[in-house]
Amino acid sequence: MTNTQAWITLVAGFALLAVQQVYSQEAIVPKPVATIPYRPPAVPAINPQPPAKPRWTVPPAQYDRTFNGPLLITVVSTSDELKQRCFNFNTPGMLGCAQLYAGKCEIFLLPDELIRERGWTTGLMIRHEIGHCNGWPGDHPGLRDHVER
Ligand SMILES: [Zn+2]
Repeated sequence: MTNTQAWITLVAGFALLAVQQVYSQEAIVPKPVATIPYRPPAVPAINPQPPAKPRWTVPPAQYDRTFNGPLLITVVSTSDELKQRCFNFNTPGMLGCAQLYAGKCEIFLLPDELIRERGWTTGLMIRHEIGHCNGWPGDHPGLRDHVER
């Protein structure tokens, strides 16, 4: 093989690599696909009013923080189901409970509309129950007003 033939072979090889690169880049360009616009289903607006009744719902500062372990929140359908899921703990007007076991916390709550009917919000309930997840005793020592003063 002469020097000229070697150069031609080398240049042809680079040209072939360049052509392959261009074609391989074109191959990964996605083609436009016609889609049907998604419209989320209509959801009735909730009333974002602050809770009327509960004043003393928030755990003391030492328990009023995020729970860092595994957390499962389950919304049950009825008060009877809530009572059943909360080990038959029966407090009149109970809206939820928290159970801590093996570093995991499970919260059971009534549906938002039932919680709101009683003047609370699901957000406040979760804050309250997470306090229990963090070790706040069930007799609620140091309960605080949820309104910042
Ligand atoms: Zn509680």
